[in-house]
Amino acid sequence: MKKQKKKKAPKKVKGLTSSQVEFFRKKLEGLQEDLMQTVGKKREEALPDSEVGDEGDVAAQSVQRDLVFELTDNEKRLLDEVEAALRRIEKSKYGICESCSDKIKIIRLKFMPYARYCIKCQARFEHR
Ligand SMILES: [Zn+2]
Repeated sequence: MKKQKKKKAPKKVKGLTSSQVEFFRKKLEGLQEDLMQTVGKKREEALPDSEVGDEGDVAAQSVQRDLVFELTDNEKRLLDEVEAALRRIEKSKYGICESCSDKIKIIRLKFMPYARYCIKCQARFEHR
C-alpha cells in the first residue's frame, strides 16, 4: 500500500520560511542603505572642492583622503556582502551555507544577516 503525500509543495526557501526571509531582506536592505549613505558621506568629506587652498591643505587633505578610503574600504566590502546576500535571497539560497549547504542558524543570521557560511564552516576558515 502506497500512501503518497499529495501536498502541493509551495515554492519555499529551504530552511527559512518566506516571512523569515522577508524579515532578513528588510534588514539587509536597511543595512545596504545605511552603508551606502556612510560611504557616500565619507566620500564627500574626503573629496571636498579641493581646487582652492594652499599647499599645506592639499597635503592634509590627501592624508585624510587615504584614511577615509581605508575606512570606506571596509564598508564597501560589507556592502558587497550585503548585496551578495540579497542576491542569494533572489535565488532562494539565503540562509544556506555556501560551503556545506547546511542551514545557517537563525540566531547567526540575526547577528550577521549577510553570513555566507554556517558557524562550523566559518570557524574552519578562520582557523586555517
Ligand atoms: Zn557550512
